[in-house]
Amino acid sequence: MVQPLSKSEVHQLMSLLSDEQKTFIERYSKQSKKSKWIEAIARRKGMVLSEDTPYEEIEPLIEDWILVDIMDSGYGNRDYVCECGRALRYQYRVLHKKEGKVYGYGSSCFEHHTNLSPEVVKDIKSGFHSVDLERDEILITYFRGTDWSLEPYLHVDTIPSEFRKQHRLELPLTVRQRSKVIRLAEAYKQKKLWNKGFGQLDDYQKEIFFTIEKDEQWEIIRKITQLEENDYPELPAEFQDEEVLRFYSAGLPLLERHMEFLEDYRLQQIQSEKRTLIKRGAGGLPKRFQYRTGLDPSIHSSTRLDYQTLIERHLETLRSVRENEHRIPEGLKKDWIKVQQQVRDLKKELNIDYSNFKVLVNNLCYALQVERDEFL
Ligand SMILES: [Zn+2]
Repeated sequence: MVQPLSKSEVHQLMSLLSDEQKTFIERYSKQSKKSKWIEAIARRKGMVLSEDTPYEEIEPLIEDWILVDIMDSGYGNRDYVCECGRALRYQYRVLHKKEGKVYGYGSSCFEHHTNLSPEVVKDIKSGFHSVDLERDEILITYFRGTDWSLEPYLHVDTIPSEFRKQHRLELPLTVRQRSKVIRLAEAYKQKKLWNKGFGQLDDYQKEIFFTIEKDEQWEIIRKITQLEENDYPELPAEFQDEEVLRFYSAGLPLLERHMEFLEDYRLQQIQSEKRTLIKRGAGGLPKRFQYRTGLDPSIHSSTRLDYQTLIERHLETLRSVRENEHRIPEGLKKDWIKVQQQVRDLKKELNIDYSNFKVLVNNLCYALQVERDEFL
């Protein structure tokens, strides 16, 4: 923590600065004190302010006393006078908004002359103190020298122009200012990353993207921008998880939790294979594996699906998809071609993968928002 400098120390150090540097520090201190004043009153009135709420936004909300200026006669001088008649080095010019009149007070006097409560005055004074400490910190750091520079952060467009000017004048930033810079730079980086990742999504992907929580959206962004490893695993043909299939068909990276589903599914498969082997070994009838639960068992039955059945089951759905085919997202066009091929194949009495057909049609229905038949 920086120790406050005495008035004469401040005077000495300030006199070693260039005029431009000196003016900057004085103006910066004055601005900061005006903000602290407003903030103290606003806080007392129960207004919720963030560190970044600009002065201009709060000022009109305050009806009574506003600090408009701080006059300084300079070190060793007492050129100003308080309303009570005392000679002052610093005069606080305070506007009483209701009267529209400006009064000049000494720092220990505005408490008696204004109707501001003692708590507000205390708050204002501690605000002023922190501004003085900040000024001292700039002075001390300037003369002692520092390795920290704003240079690497200049591309961050949210860095306040005050900070830039301070840097141009070769005045160091305070620890508080630096942590603000780092915070802004981090937010800037995140925003860039988001824009970069989000910009790569097509409309269909965006639609899916907005169905998931923020932290998972970030997971997608990190994967798309290759910050995180992103593998597109092979999906087992009979795997049926609506969301996973939707992500998959849209060409979106799968989420960690999807990968876990898949892993569970694989384990189940292995388990079920094992059971089948054991049963066989015990002389039981060879059974087909049943990985999927809750699905139409007829898919598994040995009776082959024929064209007639397919049409009876899905004609309405296929018709709706066809009516909307101009709206099929880019990523799903090849799926629609495949579905039509499957229908033709079946007509020619060729075998098709029925569960794959259902997955593709499901995805198309979802993307086009058309109703699905009960067999899907
Ligand atoms: Zn006075």
